[in-house]
Amino acid sequence: MEGILKKYGALIAGTGVAGLNCALHLPADMQILMLSKDAADRSDSFLAQGGICVLKSPDDFKKYFDDTMRAGHYENDPEAVELMIRSSPALIRELVGYGVRFARDGKGNFRYTREGGHSEPRILFHDDVTGKEITSHLLSAVRALPNVRILERCELVDVIAKDGECFGGVVRDLASGELFPVYADATLLATGGVGGLWENSTNYRHLTGDALAIALKNGVEVEHIDYVQIHPTTFYSEKHGRRFLISESVRGEGAVLLDKNGNRFCNELLPRDIVTGEIREQMKKDGTKHVWLDMRPLGEKTVKEHFPTIYRHCLDEGYDVLKDSIPVVPAQHYFMGGIKVDKDGRTNMKRLYAAGETACNGVHGKNRLASNSLLESLIWAERAAPAMAGEGKIRSFPEKDLAEYSDYDRLKENYAKAIREEAEKEAYCD
Ligand SMILES: Cc1cc2nc3c(=O)[nH]c(=O)nc-3n(C[C@H](O)[C@H](O)[C@H](O)COP(=O)(O)OP(=O)(O)OC[C@H]3O[C@@H](n4cnc5c(N)ncnc54)[C@H](O)[C@@H]3O)c2cc1C
Repeated sequence: MEGILKKYGALIAGTGVAGLNCALHLPADMQILMLSKDAADRSDSFLAQGGICVLKSPDDFKKYFDDTMRAGHYENDPEAVELMIRSSPALIRELVGYGVRFARDGKGNFRYTREGGHSEPRILFHDDVTGKEITSHLLSAVRALPNVRILERCELVDVIAKDGECFGGVVRDLASGELFPVYADATLLATGGVGGLWENSTNYRHLTGDALAIALKNGVEVEHIDYVQIHPTTFYSEKHGRRFLISESVRGEGAVLLDKNGNRFCNELLPRDIVTGEIREQMKKDGTKHVWLDMRPLGEKTVKEHFPTIYRHCLDEGYDVLKDSIPVVPAQHYFMGGIKVDKDGRTNMKRLYAAGETACNGVHGKNRLASNSLLESLIWAERAAPAMAGEGKIRSFPEKDLAEYSDYDRLKENYAKAIREEAEKEAYCD
């Protein structure tokens, strides 16, 4: 590939919030190469609707901590949870520094919304496009850095590993099929979730857990591959493709779930896995392919001001949420497991780091509390940066034979199979 250096200080696979925030915290004199499997702005980070949690005052620490642990079925790492919560106010100040706008009241104070599993409103938001607001500002900031190059539609197909150490990665240009090695002193895997492996998912289709498969192939430790979160409410459609999310904050603001006779059947504000179970049970009882969500209790002002994208999407699908209930169904949404990392995003392979949805740092346990993932991804990516910068320079690089990657379809099939088999194995052992 033209213009690519022989060697970089850091190679980052992924241009979602995790990859971008890491790049922003690496030294300005370090040469950084970022890879994005699709266009740089086509990441799940851009899709996040509901918001981002923050410790809004020291008094809320215990409740926020307890909510996160309860949602995670107490399988979370308490130290990781505390680290995330305590780091959140500074992180939000940084985001505001990049120009990110969160909803505020008439006096300029933050407004907070609420989602399932939260005992308090503590979620900052920007209409129903919080992810786009955050990620587009970070992407602009990264694009302005002279030491960072972003290669779009280029996929990491493997790491270059020898004797338990990572020397960079093998990259495939998706347009031409060209394969080339990229050497780096430190490598970050930030390739997001696994939704593309599922028939029904809210995730972009190109997010297929590539870093996980690469980790499995190279003996990098992974954890809880079977912990997949199903979101209770995506817009029901017979069409093929990505499922449109109806954010949980819609229920946080008062929307109710109804069965086929128009009756409520559960507490809508319980954690996601429980509400999903209740919906599935109700669909079975009713013999239906979906249940209904009634947004009318929110009123026109809240719907149009807080949820304009959802409002428009439903109108396009033929439903006016101010008058009609909408059909909703659970779908794959988030991945709690991943590549096992420590508090600084280190994997068990030297010079190899992971952050964001592809990593498992212990924050989420068995089930993620709503709006904790942008926060967790941003914080761990930022923490990984100084550790990556501290890796010494590599003096000599191993040769890499690229022949094993020539059959791309076969490689991807094997990767998907490896993830499925590992998930089944873990589920069986639980
Ligand atoms: C519809 C929706 C709504 C959500 N709402 C919220 C919310 O309100 N609050 C919240 O906290 N979380 C929310 N989430 C979850 C949150 O958005 C994600 O967990 C988070 O954005 C993950 O960030 P990331 O940087 O790890 O991955 P992503 O943002 O998904 O980015 C992954 C990047 O990796 C690249 N990539 C993938 N494979 C490769 C490869 N092999 N080589 C090179 N590049 C690769 C992709 O192209 C992309 O650039 C939502 C998710 C979805 C799908």
